[in-house]
Amino acid sequence: MAALAGAALPARWAHRDSFVILEAGFGQGQCFLDTWAAWQADPNRCQRLFYIAVAAQLPRQLPLIKDSEKPSLADRLAQNWPVLTPGMHTLVFDEGPASQVTLLLGVGEAADLVPQLVARVDAFLLENVPPAPLVPNGDEGWLSRLARLAAPGCTAVARSEAAQVIAGLRQSGFRAEDTHARSATGSLTFRFAPHHTPPPLPGGLWPAVIGPTQRHAMVIGAGLAGCAAAWALARQGWRVTLIDEHAAPAQGASGNPGGLFHSIVHGEDGLHARAHRAAAMRTAAVTSPMLAQGRFEGACQGLLRLDTQTDAAQAESLAHRLGLPLEHVQWLDQAPARASAHIPVPSGGWLFHQGGWLDPAGYAQALLADARAHANVVFLAGQTVHQLQAAPHGQKPWQALDTQGKLIAEARVIVLASAVDTLNLLKALPQAAPLPLSLVRGQISSLPLQEGILAPAIPVAGAGYVLPLHGGRLLFGATSDLDDLDPGLRAADHAHNLEQAAQLGCLPMLDKNALPKYLQGRVAWRAVTPDRLPYVGALPLNPADRPQATAGQKAPRLDQPRLIPRLRDEHGGVYVITGFGSRGITWTALAGELLASWVTGSPCPVEAALRDALDPARIVTRAKAKAQTSG
Ligand SMILES: Cc1cc2nc3c(=O)[nH]c(=O)nc-3n(C[C@H](O)[C@H](O)[C@H](O)COP(=O)(O)OP(=O)(O)OC[C@H]3O[C@@H](n4cnc5c(N)ncnc54)[C@H](O)[C@@H]3O)c2cc1C
Repeated sequence: MAALAGAALPARWAHRDSFVILEAGFGQGQCFLDTWAAWQADPNRCQRLFYIAVAAQLPRQLPLIKDSEKPSLADRLAQNWPVLTPGMHTLVFDEGPASQVTLLLGVGEAADLVPQLVARVDAFLLENVPPAPLVPNGDEGWLSRLARLAAPGCTAVARSEAAQVIAGLRQSGFRAEDTHARSATGSLTFRFAPHHTPPPLPGGLWPAVIGPTQRHAMVIGAGLAGCAAAWALARQGWRVTLIDEHAAPAQGASGNPGGLFHSIVHGEDGLHARAHRAAAMRTAAVTSPMLAQGRFEGACQGLLRLDTQTDAAQAESLAHRLGLPLEHVQWLDQAPARASAHIPVPSGGWLFHQGGWLDPAGYAQALLADARAHANVVFLAGQTVHQLQAAPHGQKPWQALDTQGKLIAEARVIVLASAVDTLNLLKALPQAAPLPLSLVRGQISSLPLQEGILAPAIPVAGAGYVLPLHGGRLLFGATSDLDDLDPGLRAADHAHNLEQAAQLGCLPMLDKNALPKYLQGRVAWRAVTPDRLPYVGALPLNPADRPQATAGQKAPRLDQPRLIPRLRDEHGGVYVITGFGSRGITWTALAGELLASWVTGSPCPVEAALRDALDPARIVTRAKAKAQTSG
């Protein structure tokens, strides 16, 4: 509680929309629990409390006391405690309209993770910073660069004997409050008093300056991407108008009867692997309670990814090197893999415990229902957006028009969640830089579980995949054909899918010329980016619309996505969430939350490197780098 008093809490969060705390070190979470309890008890509390905690040493599990019918806050934290994969984890508590506590738990060393945070922090709690060797040249490392994260009026609490922390805070522009106010526990409070405040980066986190009634976003496309954007924005108190050309949500790629979600393991653990792992962990956390309540079909009870290139010794050493706990991913040789999947799989593979399958349309509907529990979310069905434009008057609300030029809706924020059709909508926005997206046709197949067909106990992926739909059907697939617009089901594609399912061990090899009678299928199109990572963020400006350097001025740097100017100002702008490729289910929840962070200025749920890797402006920086190399 001393830390709270040092940060002048609860008074400072009173009547605010949100308040952001960053604690370095977490221990067993006592400071978080005290803060949460104080927030709950305060009638004047802020609507949304974000508590970021960064620690390398975290307990694998927290003790569960469960001594009463109503679980204590400690029990609720223990029940939601994540499997500790490296990186950031989001835990959300006390959800309700205008009420939410979000714990962003960073698993890793503060020196690595704090520079990777994207947030505007109101209070740093640094009393638990573990002692680190003093740096000889007087650079206190991450502690000296906290200014980047500090919001105006930010405070910091540190131990009075922690010389390095105090030196770092001073280098960051913090000044000690009256030292007579030193608490009995030996803590000192500092306040952010910088000599100079640089303007926010064009692709950085911008606080929304508009009032609550003006927080309104129009989301175009009601597939998984659009429903996730609506869900995450509504949880931040934003009103949403969701528009789709179809009569119901999730009728495009998100209308398949089932699909997989899972993490990946890669020797280099580069941006792709880290991004997919973060996305899969978030999907498991968000969907597990929904699945447990039976809100849609699916199961989050593991997924087996076959791997013929790895053996047990290599797998163990790789997982150890990457810091991936057994509770996340486990190598299974062929015999245990067969026992686990209940089908005669052709090799061993990785068992992803937070993997599974689900019905994407049911998931999209559940996200929409949750969005409506938080804010006013209107679904405009059967409306095709043909044109986008900035309104001729007012503080730049954006307008969506139909094919006849009739106004469908207007809002300060537009979110393009329109899959491949985003290309057409971008043509209607010449101010935005073009974004490459490919269209890849896919056909899935399904069969009733009759004699001769084995149902896997969990989804299995290798060359193709098989999953056990509820109601006794086996779903398998899928084909992949670039720029193929054929909407009809093709026998050759069914044969391809059947062959893959047979190789995975679910069926006998069948005669390609005599397809089973009860075969069903569906065709849809994936929107694929050149680097196979989604686009999530504010649209980059077209070079012609970017501010140019005047004579004598240095040309603006364009070598990092966050430096690229955007089609937005502090009142609103145009954002995109698309390009999920074959992993839309895995991406949905995290991409929605990342998008909401871009729009609302709330703390980013992933590290800066991953945010950059998903930022659509990466296309601009890469084009620039390529032009420089070739020129
Ligand atoms: C065969 C196949 C198998 C797949 N299997 C898996 C899997 O196992 N696991 C996995 O994670 N992913 C899988 N995917 C990918 C996943 O389905 C997609 O990534 C995901 O559904 C994309 O969601 P979305 O919202 O971006 O696109 P969509 O679901 O296509 O939604 C886009 C929406 O935008 C609307 N729209 C577009 N333009 C306009 C406009 N101008 N005006 C109004 N509305 C508009 C459309 O009507 C549509 O509803 C698969 C995809 C295919 C094709």
